[in-house]
Amino acid sequence: MTKTKIATKGLDWSYAPAPESADHFQLKGQYGLFIGGKFFPASSGKRFPTINPATEKILAHVAEAGAKDVDQAVRAARVAYEKVWRKMPGRERGKYLYRIARILQERARELAVVESMDGGKPIRESRDVDIPLAAAHFFYHAGWADKLGYAFPGKTVQPLGVVGQIIPWNFPLLMVAWKVAPALACGNTVVLKPAETTPLTALLFAEICQEAGLPDGVFNCITGAGATGAALVNHAGLDKVAFTGSTDVGKAIQKSLAGRSTKLTLELGGKAANIIFEDAAIDQAVEGIINGIFFNQGHVCCAGSRLLVQESVEKEVVAKLKARMAHLIVGDPLDKNTDIGAINSKGQRDRIRDYLKFGQEEGAELFQTSCSIPQKGYFIRPSFFTKVAQSHRIVQEEIFGPVLAIQSFRTLDEALEKANNTPYGLSGGVWTDKGAKIFKVTRGIKAGVIWANTFNKFDPSSPFGGYKESGYGREGGRHGLRAYLECL
Ligand code: NDP
Repeated sequence: MTKTKIATKGLDWSYAPAPESADHFQLKGQYGLFIGGKFFPASSGKRFPTINPATEKILAHVAEAGAKDVDQAVRAARVAYEKVWRKMPGRERGKYLYRIARILQERARELAVVESMDGGKPIRESRDVDIPLAAAHFFYHAGWADKLGYAFPGKTVQPLGVVGQIIPWNFPLLMVAWKVAPALACGNTVVLKPAETTPLTALLFAEICQEAGLPDGVFNCITGAGATGAALVNHAGLDKVAFTGSTDVGKAIQKSLAGRSTKLTLELGGKAANIIFEDAAIDQAVEGIINGIFFNQGHVCCAGSRLLVQESVEKEVVAKLKARMAHLIVGDPLDKNTDIGAINSKGQRDRIRDYLKFGQEEGAELFQTSCSIPQKGYFIRPSFFTKVAQSHRIVQEEIFGPVLAIQSFRTLDEALEKANNTPYGLSGGVWTDKGAKIFKVTRGIKAGVIWANTFNKFDPSSPFGGYKESGYGREGGRHGLRAYLECL
């Protein structure tokens, strides 16, 4: 085992490897589709491999659902909705959600390791963020299941019916929880399609539903690639589609649902501005920049992928950022020292490399740390661009990787103008010691979530969602419940 060496002026930090063990559970070689409470092979017999992006090794083979399987899953969800779930009192539904939440906690270690192996994220993040938050979403929504009438006083609330849910690869189990917990709490049944590159924790979640005794067909999981997602969206038996992913696919889904009564919520991309004023606590702000862009390799829709820094402190902030970045450890996702794990797939790694090229071709200046990265697997060094213009692709488009674009500003109005000047409106950040400035900025940015003097904080009770090309509808809190209910 080699030690990770980080050398900065006069200091030499060496970290011995601290790998999390993966011998406390056994992945199956093959996973089926979860329909009506049981696992089945795809009707076509097709399977695809899911690989560990840090080692490029196959972890398991997973069934690839076709239109026939999608149809069976939607039918199973319909039967469960009509015969069992919609009729069940909220307090009884809540018990299942509590049970699921507790099993998520009991199996947290296994889930965290599988999440890091299948998706590439550092074990510290899957262990301390993804899995605890997934359980928290089930606990939170379990509490609402018998109180929905109080969430919307004066209204009669009803579930929508069968919901098709499509989720991405950046927070696989957490996205399961964000989607499934409110849907089930409100009395809907679900057909879920996880991303092709990260299906494993959704399949373990299906096992957890079995373990919790969830009635058959209330939760169904169909694995596959984009074609499986499209077959789900195009199925006439859905009452709602909930999608998280790229803006392009979100637009395609919106088009295919046009003219149908199927409801839709979309949580799409982002290009958040993290705004640092000269009166901010600079060292804390630098930590916030690091967390904003390098958390989960930058595969975060609400990542602070643009830094807007007031001109008077630009040099200081950039120098401190470089110094802090020199300490970031890129490498084995299962090592507890690792700050930045593997890029989720070869395709995404190549896409990020393309943006590193575009930025330089457009005239921006690239900085990357000199840390070592493993030879095998998909890794990118933490990076930022300076000398960028508002029109550059690296400022306007979502890169979804550990790449920050840095711009400066002189006045608050200029900062707002630049912050709002992208097609997105998902999130933002502001760093200042003046409360009034916080209110001006939070009112002035068109985004669903804005953090003040912090970044990337999530809570199940707090609604999350976007404006403009970042989508519509909210997840979390009472707003999130509303998206899974008919309020009469
Ligand atoms: P996609 O939007 O393609 O993937 C999101 C989900 O949609 C996945 O489950 C995917 O399946 C599925 N899907 C793909 N095509 C269709 C379709 N036509 N109909 C229904 N479902 C479909 O994102 P990518 O994985 O291609 O990532 C590309 C870029 O999107 C990233 O670089 C990033 O910029 C952005 N992105 C944003 C996310 C966010 O949270 N805002 C999350 C993920 C990506 P499968 O994965 O199996 O192809």
